[in-house]
Amino acid sequence: MHTYDVTLTISPEMPVWPGDPSVDIHRVAKIEDGQHANVSHIQMGVHTGTHVDAPYHFLKNGETVENLPLKILVGRAYVVHLPDSVDLITADTMANADIPPRTRRVLFRTRNSKQWAKGYGSFIEDFVSINEDAAELLAQRGVKLVGVDYLSVAPFGNSVPTHKILLEAGVVVVEGLNLGEVSQGRYNFFCLPLKLANSDGAPARAILMGV
Ligand SMILES: [Zn+2]
Repeated sequence: MHTYDVTLTISPEMPVWPGDPSVDIHRVAKIEDGQHANVSHIQMGVHTGTHVDAPYHFLKNGETVENLPLKILVGRAYVVHLPDSVDLITADTMANADIPPRTRRVLFRTRNSKQWAKGYGSFIEDFVSINEDAAELLAQRGVKLVGVDYLSVAPFGNSVPTHKILLEAGVVVVEGLNLGEVSQGRYNFFCLPLKLANSDGAPARAILMGV
């Protein structure tokens, strides 16, 4: 049974959302300086790399990340591999994508994952994302978790509608997956965000296992 690590490695070189804090990891204690152990300090935004959005990210009274249901974050998922020609995931894209009925977790592999294969560069604005219609359709179909392979589920410059629709419907949003090695099909998905108190999001380790 193959295990796919679909998590981005957190490093100072990785692109972050414009305006969000960049990643800093540095040692504050060093063995080579005569100390007993190496100890590192990290500084980053909670929406860094592979991460989960809590409802509180876009909803004033929404749930915070430590209360997201693990039942949704772990379980059977379907990876949809969309052709590189898809620039925006719409209701039409979904109709053509052949997602099995009763799918509760959907991960969209798009041309975004090719960005990760190239290594970390600067932030790109024209990433593939989900529009309002597709978000409505996902919620209507009873999908409980949506994963995307760039840093936002919503189009650049229009973050609010897609996020609000999904988060209001109780859909867990996972962003920044690297799905470049994963072919279309069913998997077991494990996504465990850090248990940060009162946070609007948290970095997560995410893996897929063949079924
Ligand atoms: Zn986010």
